[in-house]
Amino acid sequence: MSVPQFLPWQLDQARAWLGNRDRFAHAWLIHGLAGIGKTRFALAAAAGLLCESPKDGLACGACSACQWLAAGNHPDLRRIRPDAIAALEGEDAESADATSSASKKTPSKDIRVEQLRSLHTWFNTATHRGGYRVAVLYPAHALNQVSANALLKVLEEPPEHTVFLLVSDAPDRLLATLVSRCRRLPLAVPERVQSAAWLEQQGIQTPDLWLDAAGGAPLKALEAAQSGEAACPQWLESLARMVAAPALPDPGPTADALEKLPVAVWVDTLQRWFVDLMLAAHNTPARYYPGLSKLSHQVGGAAAPQALADAARWLAQQRALAEHPLNAKLLAHTAAQRIIAACARCS
Ligand SMILES: [Zn+2]
Repeated sequence: MSVPQFLPWQLDQARAWLGNRDRFAHAWLIHGLAGIGKTRFALAAAAGLLCESPKDGLACGACSACQWLAAGNHPDLRRIRPDAIAALEGEDAESADATSSASKKTPSKDIRVEQLRSLHTWFNTATHRGGYRVAVLYPAHALNQVSANALLKVLEEPPEHTVFLLVSDAPDRLLATLVSRCRRLPLAVPERVQSAAWLEQQGIQTPDLWLDAAGGAPLKALEAAQSGEAACPQWLESLARMVAAPALPDPGPTADALEKLPVAVWVDTLQRWFVDLMLAAHNTPARYYPGLSKLSHQVGGAAAPQALADAARWLAQQRALAEHPLNAKLLAHTAAQRIIAACARCS
């Protein structure tokens, strides 16, 4: 392991932010589009804050603090994230109450209140050479009501020398009183050239195609490119072909394809395609799936604008519930029917 590093497009902002530690706030909300590297930014920032001889605010990579960070066991750093994410990262959750029986259960998708309660002992332990103590909490929308209130209590009477870095795609979904306790640090979507160059360095052959499908978010683009799927999923292409054709469409194959995917994934894809359809209705080039441009223009140009807008709104509602779908199979079938109906020719 090595010390977490900033991504190339984050360096200028990171230096400007971390280079000035006078009256550094004790809680920051790092927010921006999903897939641009916010968690990476927060972890690299934590390294910069903990490093004993930072350069322009960034971790040196050589001091004893950096060596602890590289080994993943700096005592003054806590990563607070759902157990399910910790499991994906290949680590056991840093929870005080982890027992063998608890670990057999499905890992929690929430940040549990116990994770916040266990911080109090940490707050009462002296820091290494009197430096900072840094808690990186991601994603902040995984805080449930109870854990959000527990965090709020902590931030209302912040412990000394402690910096909280909260990471969120959707600050609007957080408890407003919690947000008001944090300084906001918005991260922008990186420039296209910089993202494309970085993706090429990661071995991605057609970075622009993937960046289009990911709305310009490079980490999301990389993940999709490495997933083995096409930039434009096959089921979407089939759906577009079907609704563009004169024959009566059959929702069956689309529903079957959606059923096999996580709800959030297919809802995201359909939401993007509907943006393209609505752009096509105004004769504007596709933003996400340029490969489907011709089909999107055919469909978007012939459908009723109101029907497209209604379906897009319905998809947005489903996206908000996607982490906890009541019945994923039923939802896939309902969606296939609604989408096909919305794409019907109005004349
Ligand atoms: Zn260092």
